[in-house]
Amino acid sequence: MSDIQQQKTPFYDATIMMIDDEPLVMEVLQTCLEEHGYRFFVKIEDSTQAVDAIISERPDVVLLDLNMPNMDGFAILQELRNNRDTKYLSVIVLTSSNDSSTKLKALELGATDFLAKPVDRSELVLRIKNSLTVKAYQDQLAYYDTLTQLPNRKLFLDRLDWAIKCAIRESSQVAVLNIAIDRFQQVNELLGTQAGDELLVEVSRRLLKGLRESDTVSRGGPEAAWRNIARLSGDEFSILLTDLKNSSQIVAIAERLRSVLQEPFHLRQREIYITASIGIALFPKDADTTDTLMKHAGAATAYAKEKGRDCYQFFSAEINAAAQQRMNVEHSLRRVLERNELTLYYQPKICAATGAIKGAEALLRWRHPQRGFIPPNEFIPVAEDSGMITQIGEWVLRSACEQNVQWQQNGLASLSMSVNVSAQQFRDNKFPSIVQKILSDTGMDPELLVLEITEGVLMGDRDRVGDLLFKIKSIGALLSIDDFGTGYSSLSYLKTFPIDELKIDRSFIVDTPADGDSAAIVRTIVAMARSLDLQVVAEGVEDDAQFQFLRELSCDQIQGYYFAKPMPAQEFEAFCRQRAPAAQDIAKGA
Ligand code: C2E
Ligand code: MG
Ligand code: MG
Repeated sequence: MSDIQQQKTPFYDATIMMIDDEPLVMEVLQTCLEEHGYRFFVKIEDSTQAVDAIISERPDVVLLDLNMPNMDGFAILQELRNNRDTKYLSVIVLTSSNDSSTKLKALELGATDFLAKPVDRSELVLRIKNSLTVKAYQDQLAYYDTLTQLPNRKLFLDRLDWAIKCAIRESSQVAVLNIAIDRFQQVNELLGTQAGDELLVEVSRRLLKGLRESDTVSRGGPEAAWRNIARLSGDEFSILLTDLKNSSQIVAIAERLRSVLQEPFHLRQREIYITASIGIALFPKDADTTDTLMKHAGAATAYAKEKGRDCYQFFSAEINAAAQQRMNVEHSLRRVLERNELTLYYQPKICAATGAIKGAEALLRWRHPQRGFIPPNEFIPVAEDSGMITQIGEWVLRSACEQNVQWQQNGLASLSMSVNVSAQQFRDNKFPSIVQKILSDTGMDPELLVLEITEGVLMGDRDRVGDLLFKIKSIGALLSIDDFGTGYSSLSYLKTFPIDELKIDRSFIVDTPADGDSAAIVRTIVAMARSLDLQVVAEGVEDDAQFQFLRELSCDQIQGYYFAKPMPAQEFEAFCRQRAPAAQDIAKGA
């Protein structure tokens, strides 16, 4: 035996199909290949069944005899090349003819390689190995994610398809777990995309580890975990589970995966903690096709995110309804501007010391023709996901500025106008010039405009964020941090960025002053704002006890139902006119 013959193949799990009308020839080929470690063979004697067998068995390479009765090798080749699924399959043709026109014809029909009959054993082994090497390389490019080396979406869908077919035959269940890393974008923005990539590689390692350690998957051997996992896109992974007995197995795996991600990740000398939202859908219970199963697993993930992230969620009729609803919202949101269905409500911001109205916050409302008023929390996330927020946000900004000018023309005192700006809007490089243009179109005094952003917006590339903030400042508008205290960012940005105002989140106000912890947090925020020379506003003030507590702390402004709910522009105007004397009472401490 030559050296080559003695080497065992690295492709031991490849499936080799032989199509020949002479069974003895196939026996000889198989014996030879078995000596080199190949284990999986499919032998077809009846050439008329060859194409169907190839489609159902999906061999990695085919050894095809050219001379066969009923349907010859040429006809089979032709059919294979005309079929989308078998177009690029490696086919080595066996021919006893040395006739070059036969070879040429086979080549024209797309044969990958030749073997002359009687077959030389070492040549056979080499040709098979070469074909499988080429296939492995092509597969690597076509079916694997270059960053994590995990299977990609295409391969995953292929395997899922296959798993569903087996499950139908065996009346068994298949589960898809769709895993999304929570707030992955923030890591990217905070530490850069390279660090984000490193995190994804480490996440994939941990998910693999978690799967290997789970009983359900480990029964399939060391390769099973790797075969069942894929990176679908960005921060989204998927896991395929077959041979399931009950849903507690799935729960155990989902829990295991969450726990392997809970350990800190070490990136750029920092410890990063992440969580994941996992959506689970089952075949045949939730869906009967690959597409719907994937879609439902995705909907369950979206639901898990909405429920506060860091959890797993099984698909259900309720989730389906929510996903449907979201789609409907997205659909009708597309026409919301042309149909003039958006409107702004205004909620006063009151000076805590004097009771005077200092300004208004513009809050978006959607007058849906069938559903009535839809609150912003329901449609703004959809507008953000679909990219429509840019247009909607611009409409809000323009309308609020126009309204502000209108109120002054109607004789109201000059009031500030707070406008909420979503992260996506803010990150757009064009945002400062949009603000500038709207201010000059409407003639509004830039110093009356307060742009409310959330802490999340400030995370990420410090230079870029700083650049945008300073551009906005140079226009003259003010910057406010909305929902302050709920974000995860470091406080150092308050020193480096040109911030003017903090709005303490309602969640801290709601329990003050009764709850000592909330009261302590509010006290600290006010003191910090004071020392940094920032204005501080309390949101969601609903009762007198809260108001008095904030007033004693010298919180600058108050916003909440205690004074007024958000209202249409005309009502707001009337409220300002009627409120002026009352303000003096508060100032006197009445
Ligand atoms: P936000 O900017 O923090 O606005 C304050 C929210 O608290 C408003 O809800 C307001 O109606 C509500 N609120 C005010 N006082 C009280 C109170 O005393 N008690 C209670 N329970 N709630 C109070 P709304 O109008 O539903 O808006 C929710 C969120 O939607 C806003 O939170 C803001 O993040 C977002 N939003 C609203 N309008 C826009 C917009 O034009 N663009 C963007 N990007 N987001 C917007
Ligand atoms: Mg706000
Ligand atoms: Mg807020």
